Amino acid sequence: MLLYNTLTKSEEEFKPISNSKVGLYTCGPTVYSFAHIGNMVSYIYWDVLKRALRHDGFTVEHVMNITDVGHLFGDMDYGEDKVRFVAASQHKTLKEVAEFYMRQFLADEKRLNIIAPDVVRNASDEVKRVLELIDVLDSKGYLYKLDDGVYFDTSKFKGYGALTGMDFETLKESLKAGARVDRPKGMRNVTDFAVWRLAKSGETDMVWDSKYGRGFPGWHMECSAISTKYLGAHFDIHCGGIDHIQVHHTNEIAQSEAATGEKFVNYWLHNGFMTVDGRKMSKSVGNIYTLQELVDKGYSPLAYRYLVVSSHYRSGINFTFEALDNAENTLKRLYSLVENLFDMDKEGAADGEFRNRMHGFLTSFYKNLDDDLGTPEALKSFHEIANAANQRMGESKMTKADAQATLDALLEIDRSVLAIGLSERTYTVTATPEVEALVNERERLRKVRDFTAADAIRERIREEFGVELVDSKEGVKLRKARPID
Ligand SMILES: [Zn+2]
Repeated sequence: MLLYNTLTKSEEEFKPISNSKVGLYTCGPTVYSFAHIGNMVSYIYWDVLKRALRHDGFTVEHVMNITDVGHLFGDMDYGEDKVRFVAASQHKTLKEVAEFYMRQFLADEKRLNIIAPDVVRNASDEVKRVLELIDVLDSKGYLYKLDDGVYFDTSKFKGYGALTGMDFETLKESLKAGARVDRPKGMRNVTDFAVWRLAKSGETDMVWDSKYGRGFPGWHMECSAISTKYLGAHFDIHCGGIDHIQVHHTNEIAQSEAATGEKFVNYWLHNGFMTVDGRKMSKSVGNIYTLQELVDKGYSPLAYRYLVVSSHYRSGINFTFEALDNAENTLKRLYSLVENLFDMDKEGAADGEFRNRMHGFLTSFYKNLDDDLGTPEALKSFHEIANAANQRMGESKMTKADAQATLDALLEIDRSVLAIGLSERTYTVTATPEVEALVNERERLRKVRDFTAADAIRERIREEFGVELVDSKEGVKLRKARPID
């Protein structure tokens, strides 16, 4: 698999450190508000990455942090702690705020068919680990103390900023231009950052005693502490948004490598931003949406997943409702295709040539995916399967065996990587006695042509039992209803 590595600015063949397991770290959310659809973009792409690695035979150990303390406002991480600020304004504890938004975030991930990480750790649960790393950095002379925290002297780390492709002086100049003037007094370099933040007087929630003073971890430090604890000092892949390259990830590298003396990460992957109607998402423009808001407008989360995957992770994505409508329609067409294939009962021998074509599209899907997660190209191969199937059905040539060949290809892609709900369309369900009684009642009503009452029963079966009724030539078939609609 080829992956574009931000560290080397080139596409490289992925080679894991160990054959037994690939270590993958993704920076998790700061849980102080609802994640918006732009936030979810990264997690969808990294889910595709994880699934593609698995499909290629790798076992992936995926670790993600949840930032429930220590992330300050602003790109340079100055000012107020985000979660602390929201907790104070809502008269809640930090934990209450963090847990509420964390649950929402994890629920959104689930609705988007994102496989949960193997390890999810709150920053507040790893303070001991954070302090261990800080002690090592302190003993090696990397740190200095200011009024508001303990800082990392970036001039002492050789090669600081390598991820940005800039040398130290150029990087400092570029940050100075954007840095706020109210940065802490006494900072030796504009690039320096706090590994430990000292509590202000009166701050008692989520603060810990340490030999540096009572306080809490710096945001960057959380990721170094959690990733190296669970994946080792040196691991394979670290992912995040391009906005994290210059500060957050650059600082993770500096403090991790300074502490462990080892190379931190082999492959750095970064995804592009989402714009909405061509504009940056912002509260003032009013173009920020949550996944729930899309659902409330009648869209399915998986249509959103499909829309995101149809752009390449590095190119960024422009969200429009028109594009989401198209995605929704594409999904509906695919669902109905899968159902039709599933119901196909025309006898006849399998067409070897047709099967080979399906197999060719399938192979080219994964080949495109292995080229730096080329999802737009891979989707073309995926749609070639659907198009060839539709054409064959249009010509009334599709046999049960051909339909099975098509389903094999479509569903393998769906189960392994795409995860847009195709597989759920083919589940057969065995009726419980209650469902069976309702199905019989519906049949009776249909015979007396009371279709309104019959439809009401069909709806009731769907709502109460999650079972969809499909009328076919051989009578009514039961199928698991789409889980999310
Ligand atoms: Zn991080």
